[in-house]
Amino acid sequence: MPGTVLDAWTARKIGLPAGAFLRREDIERYQLAMLRRTLQTAKENSPFYAKRLLGLDIERDINCFEDLQRIPFTTEADLRNSGLSMLCVPQRDISRIVTLHTSGSAGNPKRIYFTEEDQELTIDFFHHGMRIMVDESDLLLILLPCERPGSVGDLLRRGLARGGTASVPYGPVSREDASADAAVLSLIRARGVSAVVGGPVETARLARSAPDCAAHIKSVLLSTEYVSDENRKTIETCWECKVFEHYGTTESGLGGAMACHVREGYHPREADLLFEIIEPESGRALPCGAWGEVVFTTLTRRAMPFIRYRIGDRGRWRPDPCGCGSALKRLDRIGKRAAIKNRPAAPRAETETKP
Ligand SMILES: [Zn+2]
Repeated sequence: MPGTVLDAWTARKIGLPAGAFLRREDIERYQLAMLRRTLQTAKENSPFYAKRLLGLDIERDINCFEDLQRIPFTTEADLRNSGLSMLCVPQRDISRIVTLHTSGSAGNPKRIYFTEEDQELTIDFFHHGMRIMVDESDLLLILLPCERPGSVGDLLRRGLARGGTASVPYGPVSREDASADAAVLSLIRARGVSAVVGGPVETARLARSAPDCAAHIKSVLLSTEYVSDENRKTIETCWECKVFEHYGTTESGLGGAMACHVREGYHPREADLLFEIIEPESGRALPCGAWGEVVFTTLTRRAMPFIRYRIGDRGRWRPDPCGCGSALKRLDRIGKRAAIKNRPAAPRAETETKP
């Protein structure tokens, strides 16, 4: 079957029969149905969305993707000011709350709420999405927060374990301070680590100072932020490995889109997320190929659905078909968040709490 491992996974998730070939029209039919269901659930269960979607008659108004224009955006300010009233489940069903603080901002922090099922969606995505770069023979070093149950590194470890891939949950390496690098590098050498997941700046620094690790490192996944060409090339050159990129935010449920073996842009997790690219000033939908602001709607999240959420990243749909043959759309590599005007500063610190 052409396409990525994500195609087969998406086909199963949207209910196609075993072995069925994923087609664009299947994805879109599913997404439209799930969009309507999400709108209905949000309207019925969340005070915030009940008010925001008051004038929307879902049956009458939402019949195709052009009708998305009828649905109001949700913004970071909404999340900061009305987060709790965005919830669609009782607080007892919440298993995880992630709090994002922003430097230099007087506003409330962003709090994103998840149920067990919401977290399961992420684990399942990591299980299947990571198969593009690792298999049972690999040992993957996780340089992301992983101490607490439910943290990104913990969900990644659990997803990988389901696919038979062993991992070492190490935790984040400082972007500014290289004093702990020696300890990470001895671990990589001692354990014969074959894959690394981390931030681009610190992973590039590790690669520069230890080209000998090229002997066993086969692949690297860069996550958490904008990836410069320079850092990507440094890692590819020093470790002679494949560098994959991933796009996701806490709001999108961490995993958002994943590179395929072509490694030019990333394919979104379309069974769980409906992405749009809009013109920031007017809010109008932009045609394929045009750069604009990334907006997404969650299609399967229970605790806190995001409806047309303006994440503030700059992105575009790649107009050319991907060489992997996937039926999934393809986002170009995401640009720096600062590229969108009037966007609040990027989150500075992330704390995770369990109620
Ligand atoms: Zn592809």
